[in-house]
Amino acid sequence: MLLNTPFNFDSQHVFIDGVWRSPAAASSMPLINPSNGEVLCEIALGDAEDIDAAVQAATKAYAGSWGKTTALERGRLLTALGRKVLEHVDVLAELEALDVGKPLTQARNDVIALARYCEFFGGAADKVHGDTIPYLDGYTVYTLREAHGVTGHIVPWNYPMQIIGRSVGAALTMGNAVVLKPAEEACLTALAFAELAHQVGFPNGSINVVPGLGAVAGAALSAHEGVHHISFTGSVATGRAVQQAAAEHVAPVTLELGGKSAQVVFDDADLDASLPFLLNAGIQNAGQTCSAASRLLVHRSRHSEMVERLAKAYSALRVGPAIDDYELGPMISKRQQMIVQNFLSQGQDLTVAATGKLVADVPENGAYIVPTLFDNVSASHPLAQQEIFGPVQTVIVFDDDEEAVQIANGTAYGLVAAAWTENGGRQMRMAKALKAGQVFINNYGAGGGVELPFGGVGASGHGREKGFESLYGFSTLKTVAVKHD
Ligand code: NAD
Repeated sequence: MLLNTPFNFDSQHVFIDGVWRSPAAASSMPLINPSNGEVLCEIALGDAEDIDAAVQAATKAYAGSWGKTTALERGRLLTALGRKVLEHVDVLAELEALDVGKPLTQARNDVIALARYCEFFGGAADKVHGDTIPYLDGYTVYTLREAHGVTGHIVPWNYPMQIIGRSVGAALTMGNAVVLKPAEEACLTALAFAELAHQVGFPNGSINVVPGLGAVAGAALSAHEGVHHISFTGSVATGRAVQQAAAEHVAPVTLELGGKSAQVVFDDADLDASLPFLLNAGIQNAGQTCSAASRLLVHRSRHSEMVERLAKAYSALRVGPAIDDYELGPMISKRQQMIVQNFLSQGQDLTVAATGKLVADVPENGAYIVPTLFDNVSASHPLAQQEIFGPVQTVIVFDDDEEAVQIANGTAYGLVAAAWTENGGRQMRMAKALKAGQVFINNYGAGGGVELPFGGVGASGHGREKGFESLYGFSTLKTVAVKHD
């Protein structure tokens, strides 16, 4: 490890069967700090051979000591891991800020969320019960919740620690042995996670981490016959490929994909309360958030007031190096910067209500984008339909509730939605009418809530992670029917 951290791992190594080792092909690639374009360190590029070794190690662990670990002991390990993560909150936050380009305070929140997942799942491990089922005379029937066996986890670069917490955390809770393939753009905290888990006593092979290219290591993991469940978080196109690969060996898949989420501001909305949520849900992590509220729907009667106030807030937004902790850091990469610039160029004919600004002396090679608020956008415009994954929000005006629902539900996605209204009946109607895996009334995100099941409908994916619900997805149900006198 070239960076100055208390961790022992070498970023050019993969973690298999409790041991850090060179990847089979001994290859690596530079990891870039998106705040300045400089090389942070070299990271290992695992391939199909490494994935196979990781799956074999996980298989052995599942058949051996890890598979025999009691739910109580798994819970204790997860709880200990959560505490260990918190002991390293500062260094983990700094690693994530350097690697992802996420402002330090936001990176710190991610560390705390990872610890909280470990704590929540640790407490839940011994509370997942089967049922007894009344049946025919002479039978006793009950169900057992069992691990899938080996689970594969493919995570993106935007919230590595949170996504590892919610998916790997849930899988370990249920006793699965995991193989984690972090994103090639940001994998340092995944390596640190493996190191800390090893330190608190997770047995060899229970957690394996193989960084590598998606098309190589990720594809090998989703196609591997020894993997019994895949959890994928990322883009729709890759999710489709992962599901197709998993279908070849009939493995279940959880897909956490993209979004084009809407916050709907009705005529009776409390604007003071909503404004911080309208803004933050567009700019958090520089808009590189699956549940970003990239569409702001507003009733015509509140339009000018809302845009005026939002524009003022936008003008105060600063964009700069992650470590300096401004409101926005850079995009993850020059590639992502270019993707967002291309979207912005599609908005040349639109009204820009406001933008943020770059701080002085921002490093020339950083992947920066200033946040942009577009006003009066048609609901069918590409900027209001496609996931941009950058700090860009579109304001769309509506005239009545029916039109609001039609616009809010009028994309291929369905991840998150919010309604801002003081009318109780409308709150209930919107909760039902909005097409999304999570609906928020008079808030957005509920503070992250590790307890709250999360996932999409439509192109946003299927399956649920987070909360107790995720433990059902990361396990399988066996029915036992005993015939007796
Ligand atoms: P991506 O699909 O390109 O990459 C995600 C992961 O998949 C990475 O680890 C990558 O290496 C791997 N991968 C790439 N090609 C692969 C292949 N052929 N087979 C297997 N794995 C492969 O996505 P991205 O650009 O890194 O992330 C952005 C997308 O992720 C956005 O669409 C965003 O909305 C989505 N996302 C969704 C959630 C959610 O919870 N719903 C959370 C974060 C990000």
